[in-house]
Amino acid sequence: MARIFENARIQSRAFRELKEKIVQTFRDNSGVSDECARINTQRVYYLALISIPVRIISILLFFTKSNETPVLRTWSRGIIASHVILLIFIVGFFISARKLKRKPQLSTAMRVLQYMVVAVIMSSGIAIVTFDQLVTTNITPFVITSVVCGAVFLIRPLVSCLIFLASYGAYYFYVALTITDQNILLSNRVNGITAVAIGFLLSFILWRYNYTNIVQKRRIESQQKQLEHLAYYDPLTGLPNRRLLNQLIKREFASMERHGHETVLIILDIDDFKKINDTHGHLAGDRILRQLAYLLKDNVRELDTVARFGGEEFVILMPQTTVEEGYATAERLRKRIMEERFAAESETMQITSSFGVSSLREVDSKILEDSFLLADKALYLAKQSGKNRVEKANEKASAPL
Ligand code: GH3
Ligand code: MG
Ligand code: MG
Repeated sequence: MARIFENARIQSRAFRELKEKIVQTFRDNSGVSDECARINTQRVYYLALISIPVRIISILLFFTKSNETPVLRTWSRGIIASHVILLIFIVGFFISARKLKRKPQLSTAMRVLQYMVVAVIMSSGIAIVTFDQLVTTNITPFVITSVVCGAVFLIRPLVSCLIFLASYGAYYFYVALTITDQNILLSNRVNGITAVAIGFLLSFILWRYNYTNIVQKRRIESQQKQLEHLAYYDPLTGLPNRRLLNQLIKREFASMERHGHETVLIILDIDDFKKINDTHGHLAGDRILRQLAYLLKDNVRELDTVARFGGEEFVILMPQTTVEEGYATAERLRKRIMEERFAAESETMQITSSFGVSSLREVDSKILEDSFLLADKALYLAKQSGKNRVEKANEKASAPL
């Protein structure tokens, strides 16, 4: 008895999971259909590329045919007319898809185009089969258009289901116009169901497969972005870390060489930060670092980079700036920091900081560590001279500190 209940429970869970999968596929919350619209636009282009010569050959073949009886004439003219109309549409689709596929942004035109193409292809299949019934009982064109629409275009299952249902409705009605034998009519209507069922099945399988792929690809891309962010940004302040700063400095050296401008590097170190940590706690220290990072970013140009060098040291990279201008900026920042009220525990507090300013022109661009050496030396001087000061370096960074 317990086993029966257990089996029933497993089955009901499996059923729920299957139901959830189907519902998810029909719902498309993640906007996969938008990505599919772009893929479909590409496919319209290539399908049209193949379809245009095929249509032209079909029309020419029918033109060479002699039509002895009125029925054969009607059949042949009907087929030619269907192919010509289809050809005109396909040329239009080809031109539109060519223009649209170059656009980086998804547009409403892309969304509309895919449905128009499917509607026209299915209609052409129904029209050709209807004329074909004058001379043959087979419904191959309808089968082909159902399979092509199902296998080529990525369309949401719900929409695809509606398209195939509507197509079958039209097919059901139109084949009766040219079939007089009721048995053949019944047989072709039944075969028509098979054609749209195969079309829908193909469409569903392809959608499901692509849906899973696209969702997985997006997940991987977002994880990669997160990893990249972790590798290049400081988690506490959100500022670029030393690794990213090194890359930016390398790029700046190349830019200085090309354009001949001067670039300034400022190192800033909070005065007596250890004491602040000891008095107010590490968490309050963290809050101060975050607030200071925000203050620095808010008080430099868009062009400048504020990075966390490590601990309570920050670096500001200022392209197209002279040492004098860099010095003035550091002075302004020093005063601004002194005025700022930093939140520590329940009360606010004030801090001071020391600055070292140097020009990247003064250092050897091949030795990255040298970029910091001069500014660090100036910072050391500022600390030695009583802190809460700005010092600039002028000499070559050769001697160790
Ligand atoms: P000076 O004026 O000479 O720079 O003295 P200082 O106390 O600021 O310098 P010191 O290098 O002795 O101490 C730096 C302190 O910064 C020690 C360390 O605990 C603290 N610190 C480093 N990283 C962090 C951090 O991420 N969060 C917090 N809260 N403290 C940090
Ligand atoms: Mg320090
Ligand atoms: Mg310090």
